[in-house]
Amino acid sequence: MAKNGFTTTILHSDRRASVEHGAIHKPMHPSSQYAFSDARELAAVFQGKPGFTYARQGTPTTTALEAKVTQMEGGVATVSFATGMAALAATFFALLKAGDHLISSQHIFGNTNSLLGTLADLGVAVTVVDATNVDNVVAALRPETRMVFTEALANPGTQVADLVGIGEWCKKKNLVYVVDNTLATPWLCQGISVGASLVVNSLSKHIGGHGNALGGAVTDTGLYDWTDYTNIALSYRNGKPSSWGLTQIKKKGLRDMGGTLAAEAAHRIAAGAETLALRMDRACSNALALAQFLSRHPKVAKIHYPGLTDHPQHERAKQLFGSRFGALMGIELIDEVDLFDFLNRLRVLILATHLGDNRTLVLPMAQTIYYEMGAERRALMGISDNFLRVSIGIEDTQDIIDDFVQALD
Ligand SMILES: *Cc1c(COP(=O)(O)O)cnc(C)c1O
Repeated sequence: MAKNGFTTTILHSDRRASVEHGAIHKPMHPSSQYAFSDARELAAVFQGKPGFTYARQGTPTTTALEAKVTQMEGGVATVSFATGMAALAATFFALLKAGDHLISSQHIFGNTNSLLGTLADLGVAVTVVDATNVDNVVAALRPETRMVFTEALANPGTQVADLVGIGEWCKKKNLVYVVDNTLATPWLCQGISVGASLVVNSLSKHIGGHGNALGGAVTDTGLYDWTDYTNIALSYRNGKPSSWGLTQIKKKGLRDMGGTLAAEAAHRIAAGAETLALRMDRACSNALALAQFLSRHPKVAKIHYPGLTDHPQHERAKQLFGSRFGALMGIELIDEVDLFDFLNRLRVLILATHLGDNRTLVLPMAQTIYYEMGAERRALMGISDNFLRVSIGIEDTQDIIDDFVQALD
C-alpha cells in the first residue's frame, strides 16, 4: 500500500492495526491486569514477548496511541508516559548515571531546567549552553559526555536550536541526541529529520490539544546504535541494538518509576491527535497575524516569534518548519504598561499556564514558572520581568487581535 500523508495515517491507524468489532477508534482498555490461559505464554510475555501483563507497563490503549506518535515522528517505536515531564525524567534517569555529563540547551522549559538540577544533585554533570550555535555545544564536550539535549523550538523564548548542526556532530561523536519536540510538534519538524536519537513530546500540549488530558512520549528514531552505550543493562542487550535504549527507558520509566499514562487519557489524546495538522496550521497562521500586528503596536517593546524577520533564527525556522513558525510567542510590553493590569483587562484570552491548547493562553513568566530559579538564571534564559508567554489557539484571528488591542488601550 502506498504511504499515506500525515493526517490520513493517523485517522486510519487504529482501524488498520486491529479491528475490534469494526471500531474506528481503538477501544479503551481500563483493565489493570491481563490474564493468560497458558502459563508458558504468561512467562514469555514477562520475559520480553510483546503483550500485556500489568497496566503499569502499558495497555492496548496506550500502545495504539504510541503507534500514532511513532507514525507522526517517522520513528520506529514510542513509549508513552503520564506527562511530558515523566517522559523527560524517564529518559534522563534511565540512560544517565552519576559521573556522566549532559550538555543541555540553556533555552528550555522552566520545569525541565529544574529537573536538570535534580539530575545534577544525583551526580550527573550538566552544562548549559546557547544551542542556537553548534560551536557552543562542541566547546562543552568532555570525555564523560553522554548526551545532548535541546528543545526544537524553545519554550518560552522561541529560540530555534542549531538542530541539524548538533545532530551531525552528535553522530560523529556517537552521543545520544535528545530533542524535545513539544512546541514544534512532528507536524512542523520530525526529530528524525535533524538526526535525533530520541524525541520527546508532551502530549498534553498540541498533540492532545483540547486541554483535557495529560501525557508524554519518547520516540526512538532508530538512528542510534546502543552497542557501545555502557549504561544499558545486560538484560536489555537483546535484539536489535537500535532498540536497547527505548527498552531500558520503558523498563525503568514505566515498570520501576511508574509514570504510566492512564488509558482514558491515552484515548482522549488519540482523538486530539487526529486534528493536529489542522489545528497547528490554524494556530500558526493566527500567531503570525498577531505577531505582525503587535510588532507595530506602540505599547509593545519586543515580540519573540520566529515568523518575524527580525527573529535571530527566522531563516533557520523557515527551512526547518516549512514556513510555519509555531503557536507560541514571547511578548514584552513597554515599562509604562502595568503587566498585571493589562492581564486583568483581557476578555477572550485566558490567563492560565499550559500551551498548545485550542484556546489562547497568556501567562507572565518571571512571576510564575520562572520565579523559583531567580533573576540570574532568568537573565540567561532571556526572561525579563515583563515577559508574557502567549500560546495562540484556534479562535477567529480578529478576536485574538481585538482582545489584545482593547487590553493595551
Ligand atoms: C509542557 C512542556 C513539557 C512538560 O509536559 P507536561 O505534559 O506538562 O509534563 C516539556 N517540555 C516542554 C517544551 C513543554 O512545553
